[in-house]
Amino acid sequence: MALLNQGQPYHGSTNIAGGKLKGSTNFSPLSDYFYFLCPNCDGKEIMRILDYEVRSHQAENVYNQFYARKALNGFVLAFHLFCEKCQCEDFVKITNTVWQQGNIEDT
Ligand SMILES: [Zn+2]
Repeated sequence: MALLNQGQPYHGSTNIAGGKLKGSTNFSPLSDYFYFLCPNCDGKEIMRILDYEVRSHQAENVYNQFYARKALNGFVLAFHLFCEKCQCEDFVKITNTVWQQGNIEDT
């Protein structure tokens, strides 16, 4: 697989930081697919995922020591997002190695 962003540095912008990027499963009652929604467009405009990268993978999850239920591993996935409607382009990461619970507004 090619490097995300052609190997150039990347990080999510202030356009998505601070709770501005939201997502949802779609409205089909049987679908479990998750979509990122454009922070610029009105409504719930789906952003395309142009690329992704496994930023890190650890055999042990550092948070397992604090919880009864154990994660099988630790990971960070990065995604390159793009909105066809407004041309907004950004990056976001999903991980199980930082905040593990609680109200997201308190993080
Ligand atoms: Zn948009």
